[in-house]
Order: sequence, then C-alpha cells, then structure tokens
Amino acid sequence: EAKTKGRGRFMVFDAAMRREADGRNTLARELVDAVEQQQFQLLYQPVVRISDEAVIGGEALMRWNHPVRGVLPPGAFIAALDGSRQAADVGYWVLEEACRTARPWALTAPHGFRLSVNLFSGQLRDPRLVNRVRSILERTGFDGRNLDLEVTENILLAPGGDLAETLQKLKLLGIAIVLDDFGTGYGSLNHLLQFPIDRIKVDRQFVRGLGEKVDYNTVTHAVVKLAVDLGLKVTAEGIETEEQKNFLALIGCNDLQGFHFSRPVAAARIAELIGAAEAPASALQAAAVATA
Ligand code: C2E
Ligand code: MG
Ligand code: MG
Ligand code: MG
Repeated sequence: EAKTKGRGRFMVFDAAMRREADGRNTLARELVDAVEQQQFQLLYQPVVRISDEAVIGGEALMRWNHPVRGVLPPGAFIAALDGSRQAADVGYWVLEEACRTARPWALTAPHGFRLSVNLFSGQLRDPRLVNRVRSILERTGFDGRNLDLEVTENILLAPGGDLAETLQKLKLLGIAIVLDDFGTGYGSLNHLLQFPIDRIKVDRQFVRGLGEKVDYNTVTHAVVKLAVDLGLKVTAEGIETEEQKNFLALIGCNDLQGFHFSRPVAAARIAELIGAAEAPASALQAAAVATA
C-alpha cells in the first residue's frame, strides 16, 4: 500500500516536472522567435523629482507582444530570458532602442531627461559589454551622462569577471550605475562598499509597507539616510499614494517613480509629459554636430 502510494506520488511529481520543463522549452523556443520577429516593445515609466514633481527621466520597461497570448509583462518571461543565450542580445536591443527613442528628450526636455535601462545578468558577464555600450551610444548619439544602467543585487552576486572593474569602465563613458530593488537581496550594504554605485532604488516592498507598519518607516528612513550619507542619490519606486510620497520627501529621497505619478507609458506619451514632443530641429542638429 505504502509502495503503490509512493510510486503514484512519484508519477504525479514526475508529470508535473515534465510539464514544467515542456513549458520552459516552449518559452525558450518562442523567445528565439520573439527576437527574430521583433515582438519586444518598450514602455517608459516617468521618474519625477521630488521638489516639484517635474518628469526628469524614465525607465525603459519591456513588454512582449506575444502572437497568441497578447501583451506579456516582464514577469511572464524575464526570468526565462535572463537564463537564455539570447539575453545579452535582447539587452543590447533594449539599450539601443531606448537610447534612440530618448535622445530627443534628453536634448530638449526643459528639465533634462535621464534614461534608465535595466541590464540582464548575461550582459554584465559579457566581455563585449563595454564596447557594445560605447558603440550604441555612438550610433544613437545618446550622451552617456544622461544614462543610468540598473543592476540588481542578484546580478552582482553571481560569479564571473571583475564586475567592479566593468562598472568602472561604464562610468568612464559618463554612465551612472544604479543598484535596483535595493534592500531585497543579500549583502546589500556590502555591495555599496564593493561596487562603484551612484544611486540606489529603494524597492517597492519597502514603500508598500509605509504607514502600514511603523517598522517599515523606520527601515526605509535608515536606508535612505545611509545612502545620502554615502553621497548616493536615491530613487524610490512603487509610490502609489500621497502619504507614501510625503514620507519619502520628508526623509530625503531625490526622485520618485510609481503608479501615483504614472504607469509605464508609450514613448509618445512620455514626450508629452516632459514637454519635448516638438523637438526643435535646431537643437537636434546642434547636438549632432557636438557628438560627431
Ligand atoms: P524594475 O526594474 O524594478 O522595474 C519596476 C517595476 O515596478 C516595473 O514592472 C513597473 O511597472 C513596476 N512599478 C512601478 N511603479 C509601480 C507601482 O506604483 N505599483 C506597482 N504595483 N508596480 C509598479 P514591470 O514593467 O512589470 O517590470 C518588472 C521587472 O522586469 C523590472 O523591475 C525589471 O527587473 C525587469 N525588466 C523589465 N524590463 C527589462 C529590461 O529591458 N531588461 C531587463 N534586464 N529587465 C527588465
Ligand atoms: Mg529597474
Ligand atoms: Mg526596481
Ligand atoms: Mg522592483
């Protein structure tokens, strides 16, 4: 009896595992098509500065226009993509597309425009990274000083290469390094000492707890103060309420991102929000000459 039951259970487990593996394989195959058929698309979530809530930047966020399942958010595919061979190339596509799209914004927005792009772990381990980024900046004419590259703590944890040196080389292109989802990974504080980080993004989990539990306010306050004392800039993400915004302003955050201000939107909408929709041709030409 115990034996049959045991075997039955094993078979169920086996079937579930096979289903999961099949799902992964299908996804992997579809991702190859997605790259070839250019099914990826970028939305941009505005970032506002705290002093006057002007839009001063935006984060490029991927969506997958799946031929059958419709528009998929990153949660449905990023993990599979990040583990795949295509990850680095998709990452460079994201960077080039975002830089090309955001160039007029950076040149003409009244308050300037910082573009944020997330890196895949495969990119940080790619020996071509720095050269690829440099040539994307050259091809698109996007000034590296207006670019934030976001890395998560998971990326920094994985072994391989001298990551601190790689980040340093990116910084020589004018790029700022952002530690994304700060506080959710292992060894957060150590990372601030080990890597040349310019800015942290306080994770949405902390923001969500503000006002719900006093401990969240205490921890968030401590995290922001630490970053400010270390000379880092601070963005908080996931702001959904006025109360959260007010608290984050009070404790010294610089920039805010969240549904309270705007969801991720199409490029045309961002251009409206920053008042740069009508990029004067003269400004673009002047910049082209400057970067030539
Ligand atoms: P992330 O880099 O931390 O990006 C912020 C995520 O939080 C976005 O989710 C954004 O839509 C969401 N968010 C922002 N404000 C709020 C809010 O007020 N409430 C709630 N509930 N959510 C908010 P999204 O677009 O689904 O992206 C999820 C993650 O997928 C990103 O997290 C990032 O880790 C990854 N991702 C997206 N695009 C790319 C990409 O091009 N490359 C790489 N490597 N990763 C990407
Ligand atoms: Mg991010
Ligand atoms: Mg984040
Ligand atoms: Mg996050």
